[in-house]
Amino acid sequence: MELRDKFGRKISYLRLAVTDRCNLRCQYCMPAHGIDIVDRKELLSYKEMYRITRVLSELGVNKVRLTGGEPFVRKDFISFLESLSFNDKLDEINITTNGALISNHIDKLEELNINAINLSIDSLQRDRFAKITRRDVFLGVYDTLEKLEKSNLKLKLNVVVQSGFNTDEIIDFIELSKTKDIAVRFIEEMPFNGKGQREMKEEWNFKKIINLVNEHYSIVETLKDKKSSTSRNFKIPNYKGTFGIIPAFTRTICNDCNRIRITATGMFKNCLFDGGVFNVRDFMRNGASDDELKQLFISTVHKKPENGFIAEAARGNDVSESMSTIGG
Ligand code: SAM
Ligand code: SF4
Repeated sequence: MELRDKFGRKISYLRLAVTDRCNLRCQYCMPAHGIDIVDRKELLSYKEMYRITRVLSELGVNKVRLTGGEPFVRKDFISFLESLSFNDKLDEINITTNGALISNHIDKLEELNINAINLSIDSLQRDRFAKITRRDVFLGVYDTLEKLEKSNLKLKLNVVVQSGFNTDEIIDFIELSKTKDIAVRFIEEMPFNGKGQREMKEEWNFKKIINLVNEHYSIVETLKDKKSSTSRNFKIPNYKGTFGIIPAFTRTICNDCNRIRITATGMFKNCLFDGGVFNVRDFMRNGASDDELKQLFISTVHKKPENGFIAEAARGNDVSESMSTIGG
């Protein structure tokens, strides 16, 4: 038994949002007052998340990304990581985090063999970082960046390219990769801001970003991407790290998609752009057996839309969710 869609794509990667809560208020993700968080009992419990992951791993999922909201805001998150790390069918456990709360946990993350940390950092300037995230925590996050870079954990930086905010720092971020073993990834901004109503002055898409980089550097090496990679990757010769661009909004990466998502309230999503196909939490709370869960996952994945445009068209309402409920 495995998870395969009708286009032949095998699903092996789960993105699981462990909470909808967050300690920051990034402008592109949510309004200043935050989102309407759900009642605690509507969130999946750790036991439910463990079960979902176990069942999916028996169907061939071997990679899990934990995201949110901010995963480290949820109480006992480290104990949950510990339990997940006992699942020997998982080859990789990765975490996406804003880094503001993790500096004391780095040793533990190494001990648990967490594979990679994706650290979100959209500016290297304290004032600007505070403006984007609406919280003045840059110094702590940058300190965490440096600690992570020295650790055994792989480090990727997530930089959402925001017109009118940080496009003049694209080169500064690439320059970080000169001496640091990091993978900087520029993400196209998407309209998932919880009705934050941010006006984009101009569209900073993949093409525009790479054109800017090519104008600055005389040689930019194109790296061979891993199948199902979400980013197109590059390197400046002799730089220690790499950089990449994630065409999240222009969606040119859908052909090789191997991903499914489960939100903090248990909504199963075949695609970032779909509206949610069914609620796994309710299905489990109504007494579903592991076999029933497996059958549901198999038949739902079979219906995975061909790409993000088709998924978006099928949802029939505007995308007004916050990325913190979807899980980025
Ligand atoms: N709180 C954690 C963090 O910020 O890393 C994890 C959750 S966050 C929703 C996951 C990723 O989604 C982050 O890298 C964030 O920058 C990205 N993201 C959030 N809203 C976005 C948007 N509207 N467009 C593009 N990326 C977005
Ligand atoms: Fe929080 Fe991450 Fe959203 Fe920023 S991007 S508000 S850190 S969930």
